[in-house]
Amino acid sequence: MKQYPVVIIGGGMAGASLALSLANIGIENAVFEAFAPESNAQPGFDDRTVALSAASLNILKRLGLEKDLYSVAAPIKNIHVSDQGHCGFARIDASECGVPALGAVIENWQLGQALNQAISKQSLIDYYAPAKVVDIEQAEQYATLRIELSNATQEVKAGLVVLADGARSPLRQQLHIDAQVNDFRKSAVVCNLTTQLPHQHCAYERFTQDGPLALLPLTKNRMGLVWSKPTKEAQLLVELDEAKFSKQLEEAFGARLGKITKVGSRKSFPLIQLKAESLFRGRCVLIGNAAQSLHPIAGQGFNLGLRDVAALTEILTSVKEVAEDSGQPLAQQLGDYQVLRQYQESRQADREQTLWVTESLARLFSNPWLPLSVSRNMLLKTMDVAPVAKGVFASQAMGFGFNNSRMASHEE
Ligand SMILES: Cc1cc2nc3c(=O)[nH]c(=O)nc-3n(C[C@H](O)[C@H](O)[C@H](O)COP(=O)(O)OP(=O)(O)OC[C@H]3O[C@@H](n4cnc5c(N)ncnc54)[C@H](O)[C@@H]3O)c2cc1C
Repeated sequence: MKQYPVVIIGGGMAGASLALSLANIGIENAVFEAFAPESNAQPGFDDRTVALSAASLNILKRLGLEKDLYSVAAPIKNIHVSDQGHCGFARIDASECGVPALGAVIENWQLGQALNQAISKQSLIDYYAPAKVVDIEQAEQYATLRIELSNATQEVKAGLVVLADGARSPLRQQLHIDAQVNDFRKSAVVCNLTTQLPHQHCAYERFTQDGPLALLPLTKNRMGLVWSKPTKEAQLLVELDEAKFSKQLEEAFGARLGKITKVGSRKSFPLIQLKAESLFRGRCVLIGNAAQSLHPIAGQGFNLGLRDVAALTEILTSVKEVAEDSGQPLAQQLGDYQVLRQYQESRQADREQTLWVTESLARLFSNPWLPLSVSRNMLLKTMDVAPVAKGVFASQAMGFGFNNSRMASHEE
């Protein structure tokens, strides 16, 4: 039976990033991904866009993706936040924060392609796809995984098993790790589009009665839309013809970018918030959406998952150094109880803060109750003129809020 120090279940954005990150510190690992790499069905690498914070860009740069990313990602030079029907707004400029960009936006499939290409060049990563992990059995010194390949079933052993298998994760349930789930009863309508006026690298967040609407700058003057709506209305918006859809969007967004000139294919995604109550069980640890899933209002889901990757890598780096010095077998040490507990503790503040901020924003800015809408309008006005409030918001948006990992920092 094949044995690995680390096995990663799920080759989505979080799992693929971790595979590269571990290979960079010399830890051999295997990735098992249920869908074939070129398959459009792989949920993580679809047509959606992802806004990457400055901290995430630093992490991806350390994974060796800088060259591949910058030709296809559009920088965010400012963020404009407004409330439909009110005059209050806030604006944050990269120049005010002393950085060239607050983050960048990329299409998920392009990030997937960059990650998969980097993985294919790494001799320390064995990538299996399509390969679905169907069972995990834990023993004291290792875990055994049962995997369904296209025409066979195979077993592998691992010192540490990483669940990066997404929010629904049946394996998390199999390990009896409970999760708090909050169903917003809304869905996000997602598509790419072009507008009459150039976006000039501004990311727009607009709060409407039904929920927030984000327009993110993309390359070739396109924009990525994420529009939160009650689920039935979201479905209707997906089915509308292009002209009617554009008209509704122009009404909700306003005239800042002129008319919507072209709309790509539309899809909707149900919105939930999920928080796993523990980040490990036995030799298995959770990262990315398997650990927590967020409302996309603040574009923080993958950014948070990437900070899981950075934290776990940094802890495993120390474990590797100690194992090398003491001559102990590395694989067993990687899945040790104290190691995984350290990871869980290191992620607590960032997870709780990001989940709390995201959920509060989703509720605060989706509520049409008049006193609340007046206060949020005042909040936006205050934020626009108060440097401290602006600084806190900018630091969160750039991913530096509760994050103290070296991989995310600007330092070389
Ligand atoms: C509308 C929308 C907009 C968003 N915008 C942003 C944004 O702007 N910024 C941001 O940071 N985040 C954003 N997010 C969140 C982001 O998309 C997710 O956080 C991210 O995709 C999660 O990646 P993941 O790898 O953890 O999980 P997933 O993408 O779900 O990947 C899990 C992988 O595991 C595989 N898998 C599952 N089970 C098994 C198994 N048993 N065996 C083998 N493989 C398995 C799946 O095939 C899949 O490839 C957004 C989300 C939505 C819905």
